[in-house]
Amino acid sequence: MVQTVDVLVVGAGIVGASCAYFLTRAGLRVTVVDRGGVASGTTGAGEGNILVSDKEPGPELDLALRSTQLWRELAEECGGFEWDPKGGLVVAETQEVLDALVIFAERQQQHGRIAGSEVGTPEGAAPAPADVVATCIAAGDLRELEPHIADGLAGGVHYPQDAQVQPMLAAARLLKASGARLVRTAVERFLVSGDRVIGVRTGEGDVYADAVVNAAGTWAGSFAQAPLPIRPRKGFILVTQPFVVPPIRHKVYTAAYITNVASDAEGLETSGVIESTQAGTVLIGASRQRVGYDTSIDYRVLAKLARQAIGLFPVLADRQVMRAYAGLRPYSPDHLPVIGPDWRLENLFHACGHEGAGIGLAPATAEMITAQITGEPTPRDPAPFAPGRFA
Ligand SMILES: Cc1cc2nc3c(=O)[nH]c(=O)nc-3n(C[C@H](O)[C@H](O)[C@H](O)COP(=O)(O)OP(=O)(O)OC[C@H]3O[C@@H](n4cnc5c(N)ncnc54)[C@H](O)[C@@H]3O)c2cc1C
Repeated sequence: MVQTVDVLVVGAGIVGASCAYFLTRAGLRVTVVDRGGVASGTTGAGEGNILVSDKEPGPELDLALRSTQLWRELAEECGGFEWDPKGGLVVAETQEVLDALVIFAERQQQHGRIAGSEVGTPEGAAPAPADVVATCIAAGDLRELEPHIADGLAGGVHYPQDAQVQPMLAAARLLKASGARLVRTAVERFLVSGDRVIGVRTGEGDVYADAVVNAAGTWAGSFAQAPLPIRPRKGFILVTQPFVVPPIRHKVYTAAYITNVASDAEGLETSGVIESTQAGTVLIGASRQRVGYDTSIDYRVLAKLARQAIGLFPVLADRQVMRAYAGLRPYSPDHLPVIGPDWRLENLFHACGHEGAGIGLAPATAEMITAQITGEPTPRDPAPFAPGRFA
């Protein structure tokens, strides 16, 4: 195989598939190369939440607000990936934690207003919603949102903008709708001429391209010509047998999840994260652990996650777990995704390092990469995500 395309995307996870969709919509000819096929990496092991609720005020929150809006549009344009604008509910076990959650939500809302007035929107592009919408829920009102939630919680914060997709379906649908060619083979290295990337060497031959997008997820840092400090951060999911009527209406999680997402710890961290799917199953997470590329099952972690879930939703106590699996989140050391041109090699763009938010942030990432490749103004400020911060 020797071919020439406008853009070669490495990786057919949610980020690569989204890039393919936005790039072809901009009129470019795109080939996607993945050694395992669509969603064979972390996208196949994620939960599919599109969250603003867990984002610290800052550039990632801006990106999340824009992405939420783009997911809504994609659901109308392509659909077929179980789009569910169900909202999120963050709960607190104590009054002290609830007070901290409310302050966090107020800071998010304040940030939205400031960012919304500072960041310009290019002509023709839809503006990002400026504000995070969040409402404090008193303990006595929690059951109106979640009829099966446990007694004894201090209250929570409801985020109606949070949503969910089925990530494998979403990657497959976006890739199909893009019309991009998918080649199932490994990318061995970038082809470089002088200080420019001119294509990739694959197991099936060379592919030449005007631009290469590195959307190789947790493995995106491992290309010798342009290494990046992306590392795996392991997480487990338990999947219950289906309920006839899904018992959990929102994505429900405890405040500890926000702390875990933002932490740099290598050791095991867990927090209760529970939600139903449209198929009736309940997904139970979340754990975080930096143990290299090891995806083996650890039953002690699974047991802990199950106990936490039953603590929040006692209705789960007599339901069997149908399966459990681990995935490797693409962890970037400063917790921000890596989006934009490489600082060493021309024509190479990175779209990786989204850690536990790659499903949510994929469309806004793809929009930014497409603008950078086509030379259009970027809808959000790209500077905080620039790969050159690791130079
Ligand atoms: C337990 C768990 C729960 C999660 N829940 C959520 C959630 O609710 N919401 C959310 O937003 N995110 C969630 N995430 C994170 C999310 O799944 C990831 O951020 C996202 O899937 C990353 O997508 P990606 O396309 O960058 O990477 P991937 O999906 O890993 O895709 C990269 C692709 O590149 C391919 N590849 C790598 N190297 C090569 C090579 N040399 N040649 C060819 N192909 C190559 C791989 O085969 C892979 O298919 C979760 C993750 C885990 C583990």
